[in-house]
Amino acid sequence: MELTKSAARALKESKYAVAFTGAGISVESAIAPFRGENGIWNKYEEKLFEINYFYSHTKEAWEMLCDGFYEATIKAIPNAAHNALAKLEQKGIIKSVITQNIDNLHTKAGSKNVYELHGNATKLTCIRDGNKYLVRDFDLKIVPSCKKCGAMLKPNFVFFGEMLPEKDMRMSIDASRNCDVMLVIGSTGVVYPAASLPFEAKRNGATIIEINPKSSAFTNEIVDIFIPMESAKAMMQISELL
Ligand SMILES: [Zn+2]
Repeated sequence: MELTKSAARALKESKYAVAFTGAGISVESAIAPFRGENGIWNKYEEKLFEINYFYSHTKEAWEMLCDGFYEATIKAIPNAAHNALAKLEQKGIIKSVITQNIDNLHTKAGSKNVYELHGNATKLTCIRDGNKYLVRDFDLKIVPSCKKCGAMLKPNFVFFGEMLPEKDMRMSIDASRNCDVMLVIGSTGVVYPAASLPFEAKRNGATIIEINPKSSAFTNEIVDIFIPMESAKAMMQISELL
């Protein structure tokens, strides 16, 4: 409780606080993380998420994506940690959320300024003109195609071998440089370039608060307040104090 109190105090005194979230925040929404026990890598082959494989084995890749991955992602609902971040944004305390997650749960919870470094799995994008569509409007048993130009749609998340979305990355770098408090939740800190952002925040003088049941690559390097708790419980406590 002392730790969550310190975190709440730092957030209350901040002028520009941002959140940086990873898979850990969504575990309590039953979204499997990619890494670790019960991780997606244990169920699916990593090649499924490689862009070259996707283009060369399109039908097979879609079939595998439809086998559980999409259903779980579309049906997932935000948990108390997502909800608390949305509430803190409404109160003007959290200015934006930078996320490594593709599950859309921050937006579902009501957060407005969300930068999605790895895209969004609830959308599809045309490989020719970039038009976006919602996954739920398509029967993915057939490879989906663009309603405007007929080209194939691909999942609107970042595959291995693809660039990160330029605008989201730029906004995330700006937010990391400008923030005075960064709340890092549920990130292992091993996926780059995303993991460089908390370091960028620290270099620019921000206080780093980390919520994570286990320590991460950030913990002993840059973290000022480490809260070794599940994110939902910790964020509920922090939120109640603000
Ligand atoms: Zn198109």
